[in-house]
Amino acid sequence: MTSVVHVVGAGLSGLSAAVRLVEAGRTVMVHEAASHAGGRCRSYHDPQLGMSIDNGNHLVLSGNGATFAFLNLVGGREAVAVHARAEFPFIDLSSGERWTLRINEGRVPWWILDPGRRVPGTQATDYASILRLLSARPGTTVSDVLSCEGPLYERLWRPVLLAALNIDPKEADATLAAQVLRETFGEGGQACRPVLARGGLSDAFVDPALRFLKQRGAVVRYGSRLRRLAYEGGRVVGLVLDNGSIPLTPGDGIILALTPKAAADVVPGLDSPMDHRGIANIHFRMECPVGMPRLTGVVNGLSDWIFAHPGRISVTISAANPDVMSRRELAHQIWTEVSYVTGRYMTGLSDAPPPWQVIREKRATFAATPGAARLRSRTRTEFRNLFIAGDWTDTGLPACIEGAIRSGEKAARVAMETNRLAAKAP
Ligand SMILES: Cc1cc2nc3c(=O)[nH]c(=O)nc-3n(C[C@H](O)[C@H](O)[C@H](O)COP(=O)(O)OP(=O)(O)OC[C@H]3O[C@@H](n4cnc5c(N)ncnc54)[C@H](O)[C@@H]3O)c2cc1C
Repeated sequence: MTSVVHVVGAGLSGLSAAVRLVEAGRTVMVHEAASHAGGRCRSYHDPQLGMSIDNGNHLVLSGNGATFAFLNLVGGREAVAVHARAEFPFIDLSSGERWTLRINEGRVPWWILDPGRRVPGTQATDYASILRLLSARPGTTVSDVLSCEGPLYERLWRPVLLAALNIDPKEADATLAAQVLRETFGEGGQACRPVLARGGLSDAFVDPALRFLKQRGAVVRYGSRLRRLAYEGGRVVGLVLDNGSIPLTPGDGIILALTPKAAADVVPGLDSPMDHRGIANIHFRMECPVGMPRLTGVVNGLSDWIFAHPGRISVTISAANPDVMSRRELAHQIWTEVSYVTGRYMTGLSDAPPPWQVIREKRATFAATPGAARLRSRTRTEFRNLFIAGDWTDTGLPACIEGAIRSGEKAARVAMETNRLAAKAP
């Protein structure tokens, strides 16, 4: 009988595990609790705006190798747009100053030497301070090793690290922050070009993966929440799901690609970070003014990043405290900032916002603190046929698309290796 790999969770980590398994000819069954795939990275129809939007603005970078390998494999590559250059327009709302960070292509960071490319108000020598972060030891926070004040911090390191780690950088794990900088600035502009889904996250990441799985015979079951795993003799012998139980044969494997809490609920003794940070996205239905950049970084505002999407302007607030103000207050306050930023490109904007929507994901990402870094799960568990994936596992990256995809690929690889070794054993 053919052995089956059960992948539980159809977010990007589960989908990436599943596509790698079917690519290698394995029989795969995916179990997803929700009525749709994509988890925290998906599109949906928003009735208030009358259009399809993403659950949150997602940015990836051209250096995210696993992400591009995944997109190429499933056929989603054409559904993302890669900016021609690593350029990031910024505005400081307290001074009204605007500038564009322009990172040169290669690894030697000569952009730092050019006042027209670096952050205004900084000197080239200021940038050397980041070397202390790059050699940070485990257990330290960013503020232990980097001065968290001054124009360079406020206008560059804070917005970059806040976006990447979704936590106030001062309390963020320094080694994680350093890894982000190594994989981005350390690789030069070629790795830092912004990448955005043209028609939404599902169109690029989720739907092509589901088609890929279907064409290769994988089954994806929705409304299929895992309630319990049955263990015996050091392995999992059964899944108890909302829509029935499945006994496992000796060659079968399981990859759990769940949230940390859902995984910890079914695996005894599993380490997992439980502290989370939110993200708020505020969407305004409107045509974007001509000339407005696809992405603008905001300093000294409530907004962190303003995205110009077709027919919609959308604002991200990272590490957002969801209860700090009402949805209406938030929409109105953010609209004031958007009006100011877009006022450069168009006139006649009303004081009242156009149709808006506020989406607050309370548990958007695990809190990337040194404490959480110690709790990130490994791929293997003490049970021979049970493997763990997810952006919160030990990927070496903060919670992100690249980390989720890497974790799924790794879980698929380890599950297949383990299965091969078990089959060879006398
Ligand atoms: C608002 C927001 C903005 C973000 N912005 C960015 C960004 O700009 N760039 C970036 O790289 N990343 C960003 N991220 C992070 C990125 O979305 C995540 O890292 C990634 O989607 C996580 O994928 P995952 O598969 O690990 O987890 P999830 O997407 O959470 O998948 C877990 C899946 O398991 C399912 N599930 C849970 N419990 C059960 C159960 N018991 N049984 C069966 N199924 C179950 C869930 O329904 C879900 O589908 C953002 C996230 C949010 C929320």
